[in-house]
Amino acid sequence: MNKTHSDITLEIDLGAIQHNYNLLRSMIGHAACASVVKANAYGLGVEKVAPALYAAGCRDFFVATADEALELVNIVPPDAKIYVFHGVKKGEEDAFAENNIIPVLNDIYQLDQWAHKAKVEGLILPAILHFDTGMNRLGFDHSIAKKISLNDGLRFLDVKYVMSHLSSAENPEDEQNTIQLKRMNDVRKHFPKAKVSLSNSWGILAAKCYHFDLVRPGCALYGVKGNNTAGIKNVIRATAKILQIREVAEDGFVGYGATKEVKAGTKLAVVPLGYADGYLRNLSNKGYAFLREREFPLVGRVSMDLTTFDVSSSSKVKVGDELELIGKNYTVDDVAKNAGTIGYEILTNLGNRYNRIYKS
Ligand SMILES: *Cc1c(COP(=O)(O)O)cnc(C)c1O
Repeated sequence: MNKTHSDITLEIDLGAIQHNYNLLRSMIGHAACASVVKANAYGLGVEKVAPALYAAGCRDFFVATADEALELVNIVPPDAKIYVFHGVKKGEEDAFAENNIIPVLNDIYQLDQWAHKAKVEGLILPAILHFDTGMNRLGFDHSIAKKISLNDGLRFLDVKYVMSHLSSAENPEDEQNTIQLKRMNDVRKHFPKAKVSLSNSWGILAAKCYHFDLVRPGCALYGVKGNNTAGIKNVIRATAKILQIREVAEDGFVGYGATKEVKAGTKLAVVPLGYADGYLRNLSNKGYAFLREREFPLVGRVSMDLTTFDVSSSSKVKVGDELELIGKNYTVDDVAKNAGTIGYEILTNLGNRYNRIYKS
């Protein structure tokens, strides 16, 4: 669907993504910097974001699923490596092998299957071995690293990396980080020839000891800063044109559930954006909009397609003016905090109704 008539706009700053990539790379010495572009590059549009990261020098791309990898094959040049976090599942081996897609092997079934494929084709196939060091999500348990290292199937595989994933790196002081680091170092002893990958965005920012040979940032590339003060640039700007200005006729309430009292004379701006656009309902009575550096509070509940701001403090605001709902004044992290969630969830929920504009 063509969105050029849309009154809501999402600007995505590819230059800022490249800046963030370069900034992270400047922190990691000789380690390689991959980019995590799963879930359509965190909702920002993988067909635009991945080439921008490639242009910035990135050659290692991680996605979650086989379908995402097959899409990416047609987006980045063939010298880019594509890795799939969820690994290779039954029936996907041919597609992986034919397209040079590298699976992250998470359990013995995936290892057996990929090794079997290599054996019958007479090939040595590339792979990453994923060890769980404390997240209890995907991966071989770290305690069986030795056993896995002796698995016969490894004769048919080129283990590029052993990897793990940090659960708590956003809080560098959390002792879970040191526990996971120690386990990672124990795992790697059994794979002396393989390189090591441990850090997501927060691991990069936490400390050098987490960097190893390859880092895997996602959210920091896209302007989510979390607790960090590093010079991560803001990437997105969401705006909405005011659809109606209403002057409240008599004392009453605004929006569903009549959650917010408004006095007669209050000036309300109604914008055509709501929770269907990822502007979460939890922002009801909590969000802010900006226009010409002025701040206007969100009043009442966010509806599916409409949200209301109190613009009484400015006589100049009029229909057609563009309110900034997410941007440098009120960042993805601010929005997430007020909605009781994390920036990742804001980005991946932005939806399909925006006119998306990519800035280079
Ligand atoms: C999503 C993901 C990343 C990227 O994490 P960010 O916190 O967005 O930097 C890295 N590694 C794994 C295994 C992931 O699932």
